[in-house]
Amino acid sequence: MSYESEKQVAIEAALVAAQLCERVRQERVPQAMEKSDKSPVTVADFGSQAVICRAIAAAFPDDPVVGEEDAAELRQPTMANQLAQVTSYVQAVIGEATPSEVLSWIDRGNGKIGSRYWTLDPIDGTKGFLRQDQYAVALALVESGEVKLGVLACPALPVEADRPEGERGVLFVAVRGQGATMVPLSGGAPHPIQVTDVDDVANMRFVESVESGHGDHRRQDAVAKAVGIVAPSLRMDSQAKYGAVASGRAALYLRLPSPKTPDYREKIWDHAAGAIVVEEAGGRVTDMYGKPLDFAIGAKLSDNQGVVVSNGTIHDTVLAALQGTLPL
Ligand code: AMP
Ligand code: MG
Repeated sequence: MSYESEKQVAIEAALVAAQLCERVRQERVPQAMEKSDKSPVTVADFGSQAVICRAIAAAFPDDPVVGEEDAAELRQPTMANQLAQVTSYVQAVIGEATPSEVLSWIDRGNGKIGSRYWTLDPIDGTKGFLRQDQYAVALALVESGEVKLGVLACPALPVEADRPEGERGVLFVAVRGQGATMVPLSGGAPHPIQVTDVDDVANMRFVESVESGHGDHRRQDAVAKAVGIVAPSLRMDSQAKYGAVASGRAALYLRLPSPKTPDYREKIWDHAAGAIVVEEAGGRVTDMYGKPLDFAIGAKLSDNQGVVVSNGTIHDTVLAALQGTLPL
């Protein structure tokens, strides 16, 4: 299958969602509401999920979407003000929309995984978004447990890695068997990307989360050193880290369980889109024990722990170092 129509729908939806998120960021200091699990959510998270679920429902009415957000809290009478804001941002990018339509689009992201489903993180790295830092709109199509298509919009990522002061906003797209591409969010011709193939480990960089609670900075640093990476890590929010590996800006992304939450299981929407972008760019993605990520179980990667993303060449060395590295 070429997944051509899925790809076009996903790209268009992610571009509109990214526009909405940037508009929120330009017009206001985005304010966080707290979800029941204490994680932050903003009007942009809800707006992004609404426009993407609407687009998928229109093009593929039978496809479930497993998204990060739902509209339960937005339906509370105390949230009327926030709902009005979400609705007006949705209207700004797609035209007519009522608050009740917006709520039902968001809730369309409540789907269950099946033999074919989409998974969506409307704003991955909400903490980065709030800090005016990196974030991503991440959308992927999964069939029979395998990611087939991934679209990753990174509105704050520099188009050229060595010109951070230059244009920002990058779209990564990958289809299984067709390679990975990158294009500025402002438009242009997508160009194929490849992971770095340098064997010169000393010049390699590795990426990790900004948030210390989302990984194990000490152990990640130790593992990187053990494989010969001498440069300090690039800390970056969101699946922009996968984009950094796929485009050769970094050779390795380490996400080891945080000592604060050793039993945490990763969410599918935090990895599906990024993983296929890296794999199609020639890299490798496994958990910390070398197991492939299993997207067939549920909203969590219950059978996996930690995530190791590399250019492929250094992957086995990283896994070996991990086995030999005592928990720090
Ligand atoms: P990042 O921007 O890479 O730090 O990752 C952001 C994602 O981390 C969010 O979308 C959350 O789903 C996820 N997350 C939340 N708590 C944890 C945790 N304890 N360990 C790993 N990831 C987490
Ligand atoms: Mg996320």
